Amino acid sequence: MFRPPVNKPRVKPSAPRTSYLDQSNISSVTLKSPLVKKQLLILDLNGTLVSRLKPTTALYARPYHDIFFDYIFENFNVMVWSSAQPQNVNNMCRIFDKHRNKLRLIWDRTKFGLSTKEYNSKTVTIKNLERVWKKLPEFGPTDTILLDDSPEKTILQPHNHCVVSEFDHKSPEFKTHGDCELMLVKAYLEKIQHQDNVSNYIKNHPYVSSPIGANGKEERPEEEGDSPVALPSTICYHYVFPKHGGDPPLPTSCDLGVADELTSKVDRLKL
Ligand SMILES: [Mg+2]
Repeated sequence: MFRPPVNKPRVKPSAPRTSYLDQSNISSVTLKSPLVKKQLLILDLNGTLVSRLKPTTALYARPYHDIFFDYIFENFNVMVWSSAQPQNVNNMCRIFDKHRNKLRLIWDRTKFGLSTKEYNSKTVTIKNLERVWKKLPEFGPTDTILLDDSPEKTILQPHNHCVVSEFDHKSPEFKTHGDCELMLVKAYLEKIQHQDNVSNYIKNHPYVSSPIGANGKEERPEEEGDSPVALPSTICYHYVFPKHGGDPPLPTSCDLGVADELTSKVDRLKL
């Protein structure tokens, strides 16, 4: 049985190290082809790739997650770091499907150095990438990207953070306009693959999410050489967690959009 950590952590750092900031000031060189050694991509789960139902009995996977996974597992070393508890992380990792065994590490709430009290409360969890680099010493600030919707979690290595918009399947904005965030991130990562100092590149070219304007169109300026980006979608995969072990049901595709809800209501009225 899992037991949360009991030892109180020592004094926690609260700001980036000078050596880290110095490293992020070294100009990144844009290479003609991606680096031979694949960079490390650390994935957050809740709010970044999935939106969970409460209580945590099921989740919706973000639109385009399947295309996104095909791309990242081909081009990056990939790991998960979530602040959720081990059982929930295990359930959420079902979304990786055929790619799951390619994950270098699956880290959960036990990997933050929290005291027992912190572990069991809603304390802000800091993702100190030095913990990852200690475990995977072949990586560092020059070749690591953290994908996360919470800026406050990355205060120690802010220039390795690609801040994505939060995915919330219940939000009126999502239901009305849909989401193609993962395709935008894919286009951004395609550029990062050619950089020899990730922390310097992200510092000077931070990822800009794409808020949807009142007219329903993206308000993101097109850059020369940008990959074509998919249209926002409200189609998500619905995963139900197993209740008492055993095989969970297969995920199902569903459209969470307002337009679809209205169509369904109209269809019902016609009957
Ligand atoms: Mg999150």
